[in-house]
Amino acid sequence: MLAVQKTSPAFGLDLVEAAEPQPGPGEVLVEVDAVGICGSDVHVYEWTAGYDWMRERMPLTIGHEFAGRVVKAAPDVTTLKPGQRVTVWPSIACGHCRACAAGRPEACENRTTIGLTRHGAFARHVTAPASQCFALPEGLDMELAAMTEPLCVGARAVEVGEVALGQTVVVLGAGMIGLSIALMARMAGASIVIVAGLNDEVRLETARRLGFQHTVDLAQETLDQAVQRIAGGPVDRVFEATGAPSSITDGLRVLRRGGVLVVGGIHARPVEINLTDLVRNKHQLRGTHGSARTTWDTVLRLLAQSGESFRPLISHRIALEKTVEGFELSRSKAAVKVMVLPGLT
Ligand SMILES: [Zn+2]
Ligand SMILES: [Zn+2]
Repeated sequence: MLAVQKTSPAFGLDLVEAAEPQPGPGEVLVEVDAVGICGSDVHVYEWTAGYDWMRERMPLTIGHEFAGRVVKAAPDVTTLKPGQRVTVWPSIACGHCRACAAGRPEACENRTTIGLTRHGAFARHVTAPASQCFALPEGLDMELAAMTEPLCVGARAVEVGEVALGQTVVVLGAGMIGLSIALMARMAGASIVIVAGLNDEVRLETARRLGFQHTVDLAQETLDQAVQRIAGGPVDRVFEATGAPSSITDGLRVLRRGGVLVVGGIHARPVEINLTDLVRNKHQLRGTHGSARTTWDTVLRLLAQSGESFRPLISHRIALEKTVEGFELSRSKAAVKVMVLPGLT
């Protein structure tokens, strides 16, 4: 089958002919109908710092945001049958480390991840443990279902930030994760959600189509000015989804006393923070990464209820053969979510 693989520790990805995977014990084989290009996939494509541990796994098929249909189940799988439509939580806990034993699989110390440490879904078929599969609600189509994972990342960030009714929120970054955070913050009851990007007109336009009237292009206005103009003063919560070091210091400047800044970007460089200011302002910095099983249940319910409200996030739909072009689109800020449809001919 055709698969999009990372074959060497350098810029790029290759479209290769790979062996059909077979489900091992406890696993199912999923025929992929939709798989999204994620920001972390783009990091792997560009081979930015922080992914060196992938070297020993190459060649590796990437892709972790997907939905499809079970076509085969290992004999010991009783929970899923061929034909079942699923999306898959790609982060697999080991089941026996300290965190797993304490019932916190999301904090597992020996995680494996579909599409990062084992073969992923930029292919027609992928295997996954049955226990990682979530049955799709009736009526939820594959491309919306394939966004469950990034929406969960946004939902988890909002859980970590404990956004409450009426709070004012700044989201730095207008990519998929930023917009997903903005959507979830609004659903959590934020009264004002400001979405900021840098030279990001296409994605800020998507934000407006999603109903966010307060969008800021930091190429035209400073964050301080924009937040003052829109919220009238510092905000309760700042979410960072850019990976740009300056966004942390900028974000702290517009955060109210006692406010929380949630860091969600992957940062290639360290950042210098004035800790005396942080202490005096009683600011909290919290990191968020991935999601938790309960987040998946929540987001699938939201998608079942109001899936259409998320569809504007999909900016492009392409065939598997065009995946590398999709990556170029994704890194150009001309796209929000590029959806690869391996069944498309
Ligand atoms: Zn992702
Ligand atoms: Zn574990």
